[in-house]
Amino acid sequence: MRSLFFFLLLVVLLCVTANADEVKCHFCGESITGDYYVFESGLTVCKECYQTSPKCALCSVPMKEFRTVGGKKVCLQCYDKAVVCDLCGELILGEYKIFSGDRKVCSNCLRRPHKCVSCGIPLKGYHDVYGQKVCGDCYQKGDKCYTCGEPILGEYLIYDNDQSKRYCLHCVQVYHHCEVCGAPVGQDSVLLDDGRIICKDCLPKGYYKLEDVLPFKETVLKFMGEDLGMKVKHRVKYLLVGKDRLKEENKHGSEDQSGLFVRRNDDFKVLILYGLRQGEIFQVLPHEIAHAWQAENCGFDLEAIDLEGFAEWVSYKFLDHVKFEYKQKVMLKREDVYGKGLRKMLDIEKRGGPEAVFSYMTTAGKGPGEKKK
Ligand SMILES: [Zn+2]
Ligand SMILES: [Zn+2]
Ligand SMILES: [Zn+2]
Ligand SMILES: [Zn+2]
Ligand SMILES: [Zn+2]
Ligand SMILES: [Zn+2]
Ligand SMILES: [Zn+2]
Repeated sequence: MRSLFFFLLLVVLLCVTANADEVKCHFCGESITGDYYVFESGLTVCKECYQTSPKCALCSVPMKEFRTVGGKKVCLQCYDKAVVCDLCGELILGEYKIFSGDRKVCSNCLRRPHKCVSCGIPLKGYHDVYGQKVCGDCYQKGDKCYTCGEPILGEYLIYDNDQSKRYCLHCVQVYHHCEVCGAPVGQDSVLLDDGRIICKDCLPKGYYKLEDVLPFKETVLKFMGEDLGMKVKHRVKYLLVGKDRLKEENKHGSEDQSGLFVRRNDDFKVLILYGLRQGEIFQVLPHEIAHAWQAENCGFDLEAIDLEGFAEWVSYKFLDHVKFEYKQKVMLKREDVYGKGLRKMLDIEKRGGPEAVFSYMTTAGKGPGEKKK
């Protein structure tokens, strides 16, 4: 709060004109014979001119010339420092408060009942943002929600590590979340054939044809072969499928499964959800191919933490190779068997290198047990 005080600088000199020096009124130019006024600036005015002249609203000095500010007359000296209230438009005579954007508000207006939730300025008119009153300035400037375009008041969320898109809590609550990137879809959502709802931004980034995904598979297989020494001997059939098909093949799979390895005897299949972006495909493909490798090289009664942990580790290594660090971070943070398993494998790798991970996997779960499907 910045306050300005205007002090009345009025020096009144009552004079009895008995002396010889002639005094002239600066307003009417007449020689003064009776009482007169002298002000700090040296301005000398006869009693009659004083009484008939308008007075400055700020310093009270009589004026011959004046300017009108906020409905009040001020002298030329005061004109430069005169402040007008941004809300009522009147000249501010006493204290005032300055809000962001250099908006000045007089003490009268400070008593208005409603304040902007963002900057605190008392409100004259306002915008209603989901029940919160916001001043015009705050409504215009500042970050807007990517989905609804309304200003973000306080908290917001981001998805998919994209700092350029911020989402207000209202949209986070009311809208369906995109099944690819996780962001609220807003009103322009896209419904895929399998019932998934995705956002309009993810639609063009997704892959919907197997032939477009196969080159990624080659990249993954090359990495797994050359960098990790993993080769799957069986012929693997790759399929791009909808969520309905994934559920059909794996009824107990999680809601967010986006890939699946299916083995029926010597029939190896890798199913990948269509509509995923490159980043998701780069995460899912190595994971499912790793399961195919496990089917050839590991015991049949692997615990979930080892089964999924190793597949995640292969995926993690590939994401490192293609520099998708953000996906790696998300994988590391998971608290389910995927995250715990991944951390377990990374721990084994830290102590004995990748060889230790492979030797752990090829011996783990190799009990005397029967083949389980
Ligand atoms: Zn005069
Ligand atoms: Zn003045
Ligand atoms: Zn005011
Ligand atoms: Zn405001
Ligand atoms: Zn919003
Ligand atoms: Zn999306
Ligand atoms: Zn898996």
